[in-house]
Amino acid sequence: MINCLWNRLYADFLMPSRLSKYQSLLEKALEIGYEIHSVSSFWSKVKDGLKSEKRYLVLRHDIDTDVKTARVIWGMEHNLKVCSSYYFRLSTIDIEFMRLIEFSGGEASYHFEEIATVAKQRCLKSRDEVVQHMDCIQELFKKNLESLREQTGLPMTIVASHGDFINRLLKMPNWELLNKDFRREVGIELEVYDEAINRYVTTRHTDTHYSYLWKPTSPIDALENGKHVIYILTHPRHWCVDVRENFNANCLRFWEGVRYKICRHR
Ligand SMILES: [Zn+2]
Repeated sequence: MINCLWNRLYADFLMPSRLSKYQSLLEKALEIGYEIHSVSSFWSKVKDGLKSEKRYLVLRHDIDTDVKTARVIWGMEHNLKVCSSYYFRLSTIDIEFMRLIEFSGGEASYHFEEIATVAKQRCLKSRDEVVQHMDCIQELFKKNLESLREQTGLPMTIVASHGDFINRLLKMPNWELLNKDFRREVGIELEVYDEAINRYVTTRHTDTHYSYLWKPTSPIDALENGKHVIYILTHPRHWCVDVRENFNANCLRFWEGVRYKICRHR
């Protein structure tokens, strides 16, 4: 327990920057001959038909917090002429940066969480209660997406579901709001967890807190072993500490947890 707490404190407030490690990872992938893609450009390749002799690396960044580090990561990729995907929550939206990503060949879109938002606002206690509120959840998603499309001028036909503590409690991910008819209505072609794209992924690697750093494993072995399609998901906070951002995010998480616990037992 003490060890876990220490690791979390270290990860959030003390850990030295790991950004040079991210740069080395990209350089290694390029050296080995991987074709590097955003989710969107990889999806286009899937539709055209993947080549068995080629090796693909898909890079996705979920910007849960810390746009400043996301900009540094983008700069690194840009210098290496690499494009990737950046998905922004309403709390991290940066219109100018999003346009920059997209107009330089990458993808910037929406990291949505309306099931979690409404569940927290209305203190929904079960999956059934969420289903009963699905109309208003979808209405909120539609409103947010339309507003983002209008503000950025970007297509945002591919979106990425955010995972909140409440989604884990309710065992209901945010992507469940995107059923077939609703996707057609709001012009969503793909959600990043769709089987339609994930069935082409050979190995998948997600960054996580110190001391694990990756789950299930580091992508280095997969790169060295020449796996056909490697998919890497990262979050800025695991690469460079921003004390203020992490402190604020931890306080918000704590407060939301307490508030939800209280209203749940009322
Ligand atoms: Zn997220």
